[in-house]
Amino acid sequence: MIGIVAVSHSARLGEAALELALQMVQGGGVHVLVAAGAGVDSDGAPILGTDAVAVAAAIDELAADCDGVLVLMDLGSAVLSAELALELRASDVPVRLAPAPFVEGLLSAVVSAATGGSLDTVAAEAVAALGAKTGALGIEEEHAVEAAVAPGADGAVLVRRVRVRNPLGIHARPAALIAKATAGADVLLRRLPDGPDAAAASLTRLLVLGARQGDDLELTARGDDAAEALDRLVALFDDGFGEGMESAEPAHDTAPTATGSSAEVPASPSETDLAQAVTPGSVLRGRGVSSGRVAAPVVHLAPPLPEPDPAVVVPEADRDSEVSAIEWASVAVADQLRSRTAQATGEARAILDASRLLASDPELVSEATALVRAKGRSAARAVWETAVVHEKALAALGGRMAERIADIRDVRDRIIAEILQVDMPGVPERDESFVLVATDLAPADTALLAGGACVALVTVQGGPTSHTAIIARSLGLPAVVGLAEAGAIPSGAMVLVDGDRGTVEVEPAQSRVDEAHASAVVVDFDGIGALADGHSVPLLANVGGAADATSAAAAHAEGVGLFRTEFCFLDRTDAPSIDEQIAAYRGVLAAFPGRKVVVRTLDAGSDKPLPFANSDSEDNPALGVRGLRIARRRPQLLDDQLTALARAAAEEHAQVEVMAPMVATVDEARGFAERCRAAGLDRVGIMIETPSAALLAAELFEVVDFVSLGTNDLAQYTMAADRLLSELGDLNDPWQPAVLRLIAAVGDAGRAAGKPVGVCGEAGGDPELAPVLVGLGVTSLSMAPRSLGRVAARLSELSSDDCRRAAAAAIGASSAGAARTAAAAALARA
Ligand code: PEP
Ligand code: MG
Repeated sequence: MIGIVAVSHSARLGEAALELALQMVQGGGVHVLVAAGAGVDSDGAPILGTDAVAVAAAIDELAADCDGVLVLMDLGSAVLSAELALELRASDVPVRLAPAPFVEGLLSAVVSAATGGSLDTVAAEAVAALGAKTGALGIEEEHAVEAAVAPGADGAVLVRRVRVRNPLGIHARPAALIAKATAGADVLLRRLPDGPDAAAASLTRLLVLGARQGDDLELTARGDDAAEALDRLVALFDDGFGEGMESAEPAHDTAPTATGSSAEVPASPSETDLAQAVTPGSVLRGRGVSSGRVAAPVVHLAPPLPEPDPAVVVPEADRDSEVSAIEWASVAVADQLRSRTAQATGEARAILDASRLLASDPELVSEATALVRAKGRSAARAVWETAVVHEKALAALGGRMAERIADIRDVRDRIIAEILQVDMPGVPERDESFVLVATDLAPADTALLAGGACVALVTVQGGPTSHTAIIARSLGLPAVVGLAEAGAIPSGAMVLVDGDRGTVEVEPAQSRVDEAHASAVVVDFDGIGALADGHSVPLLANVGGAADATSAAAAHAEGVGLFRTEFCFLDRTDAPSIDEQIAAYRGVLAAFPGRKVVVRTLDAGSDKPLPFANSDSEDNPALGVRGLRIARRRPQLLDDQLTALARAAAEEHAQVEVMAPMVATVDEARGFAERCRAAGLDRVGIMIETPSAALLAAELFEVVDFVSLGTNDLAQYTMAADRLLSELGDLNDPWQPAVLRLIAAVGDAGRAAGKPVGVCGEAGGDPELAPVLVGLGVTSLSMAPRSLGRVAARLSELSSDDCRRAAAAAIGASSAGAARTAAAAALARA
């Protein structure tokens, strides 16, 4: 540990500077002494001046505990006193006098010392401390210091990417927190895309980064403590350094941490990595923002226009015609967009209209024409440069505003294409169904997709609030965004897009393609699920929010069998307030007055991580602290949700039931039921997703009112096969006899207890499996609304006896294939 002596003419100045510096390290862990003033006069008033004896005494005092001492001086004779003190001191600890600015130097030195910096490092930090101020004022530093901690040549490298979320960016307090969080580890921060870098231990360098809200940073760490240091750092960014955040976007990317042995690891995957990830059979994961499953060949969006040449200088005499080219083009584009707006409906219409206004925005046009007149830019180049300025302004705002950058680029390209009289970039015309793949989609393109051959959208960029997501939902197209590898999927490759799971399977097996085609055909449902003998089997919908609930009600679902509440908050880094939750829940309840709505408490984790609920450092997230288990760590999160739900239920007229995901023991179920009832929620159930819960069904029915089989997870955990891994799709199959036998055990327990047994996993929407499930004792089925009609049609052809026969045949089989065949044979005789 390095000690610090602050030599000042004024005791008050010394103490005040020290107080400021200690704030950076929350007062702890550093040895600092102030040697200030020259005593007091006869009236007890302080005398300004410095005292070499006092400075020497301070050095000697620190020498007892420190490996070295840095002396900082305010001005003039302070330097002489410090030099003299070196002669007077009794100890022989190494001492360095730093020619550093007093206040800034003291702050930097204190932070550096607190993180274990050597005498050289602490001194260098102090000396470089003016850098932040000179940088902020745009003054070139003569002696720029190198990053105090450079990555070593060896050892594992971990790279993460974070976004600065707090409104003030990385100023002194966050910088000090960063330095503290990474103490002992070798961490480098770089402002993306090509900004400066800084060792995390260097307060000065961190300030010189100039990182503002919305900026992305790459964090590179190496050494034994690298992973933990990065976790701490990411948590700080996620939390906005405790200073509040204005954007709801996650601060760090959710991609897995990259690791390497000795070479630098790029923060974003290289093109080679991406191409390697895209092989036939691979399942790529992004973020599902619009539900549904379809399979079709890939078509890439036509590439954007190349950047106009900046070197062209238009002669004065020709500038007027370039100016009118801009004016005419903007009017023409606005006209085109106006006619498209007229063809569009709903949200697509509103978005197109906004683009039209942008195209004729007088500011955009006048800024571009000014560039032509003043600098001789070509018309195309002037529009390009003007758009760049606007994009940067949006990017600096971060969050949702940054997602609007695609709008500006879209309008820019349209105007430039009009000026140059070339084809517009955009969605290619096709007669056959296709999946549109793009880096990001511009609103004007997505709005044209309605009624066309495009059946799904996949983008590299975008979030849940991007236009791609909004338009996809309004058009009912399955969509996956944020898929880094999307650009590497070859044109024409067959892909299966699952907008619920956020996955894109490349060249899947033909059986999966057939399955997806079959599930995409919608059959009408009249709103009553029943067997041919009149036995009622309520058919309910799985929903993720108010919009889904409205469509489900329109599809005549008899209620909601699974409301995945976590879907309402996927883009949140902080927990939603009770009021926000009430609003989200009421939106769903309002769509089903007088009907059953089964609300599942947050099933955060594994394939649906919520930044505010899950830790991203679990080795096996599917087996980790997910679902109800989160309440072990964060009981308040569950209690707040139950409070919000009870209040939402009181405001609406739906019959609200509540259930917990990922239950494994009777105690968990009992505890959950008690909390629900304490919150005023009377109908309480649990999901049966673990083999343990299935085997304990009889005991579970003693503490809850109903159960719902989550067959997706039940299959995953029974077969020990990751449900997202297509390679193991044959294991992850609800027709597996082991899964069917567990379902049978739950059905038996339900019959014995006289309590309902629902199914809300994907199995519930399979028209061939549905009769088997009913025969096994399942009393209601919940599914994606588009499956309702086909399941209803199949059930209406069969009696209770048929279903029991099919069930008996299926559970007697010894493989999934044999179970399917046996059930089909039993029903063929029906
Ligand atoms: C399930 O596991 O079957 C289920 C319905 O829950 P989820 O798919 O949301 O995990
Ligand atoms: Mg589940």
